[in-house]
Amino acid sequence: LQLRLSLQGNGDELDQLSQTINSMLDRIESAYDRVAQFTADASHELRSPVAVVRSTAELLLMDLADGNRIRRGLTNIVEESDSMARLIADLLTLARSGLEANAGQRELFDLGASVSALVPRAREQASLKHIDLVLHESGVSLPVQSNQMVAERVFMILVDNAIRYTPTGGSITVGTWREDNRCCLSVTDTGIGIAPEHQSRIFDRFYRVDSARTPGDGGSGLGLAIARNLLELHGGGISVESQRGKGSSFLVWFDTSDTQAPARGLNFSTV
Ligand code: ADP
Repeated sequence: LQLRLSLQGNGDELDQLSQTINSMLDRIESAYDRVAQFTADASHELRSPVAVVRSTAELLLMDLADGNRIRRGLTNIVEESDSMARLIADLLTLARSGLEANAGQRELFDLGASVSALVPRAREQASLKHIDLVLHESGVSLPVQSNQMVAERVFMILVDNAIRYTPTGGSITVGTWREDNRCCLSVTDTGIGIAPEHQSRIFDRFYRVDSARTPGDGGSGLGLAIARNLLELHGGGISVESQRGKGSSFLVWFDTSDTQAPARGLNFSTV
């Protein structure tokens, strides 16, 4: 949130108006920082009690025989505290991403190399559901002036989703390539797909398509919001193309330059 207004003109009124608007923008900016800081603090504080609830239930479970009603209740507590812990971790990432953005941490790294280093881990995760993960590399260097941890986090969010929303036996294709002034990454799956009316909303916080049908699958509805937020704050972007019942393809891009803003609306069709 870095907004500044400079009104051109020679009147005192214009100067004054410009000052008033800029002081309003300052206040908005500091309010935004305070909210982000509050969310970060709150998520941080929530982590410990959830961890205690979980470990207490787990200890009790060890003392109980199978089939016991209390055992089932405790198993629920353990599972629910796991999803609460994931939600808190996601909230923390989301809040911190806003704060870290102000620090503007950028570095030069190779997008292709970062992604291919994570592919073995992603492949292992996918293999648990008998899903094949294939990597297509372009063979050219993909230098990006952004934040490597952001690129890695976004990649893992997309892979986690591709695995979660693809039935057993499906496949995931990961691609990295260069296109004009951009370095691109795609994660394409043969999963359940996303209907057109949901496609723009899946990047909103807590938005989940048909969450009733996928309760307890570990999703929080925050993954893609985190991905988009992190990318927008670090000179990147994300879009989706999908067909219900056929699969989804997520495209991520970074500018090769530090200063240019990325254009939107790529011509991209792989599904
Ligand atoms: P969640 O934790 O629910 O996966 P996300 O923000 O990562 O949250 O995704 C939001 C919603 O978008 C998901 O609940 C799901 O409905 C949909 N979605 C995300 N990725 C995919 C995918 N690869 N295939 C189908 N649906 C997806």
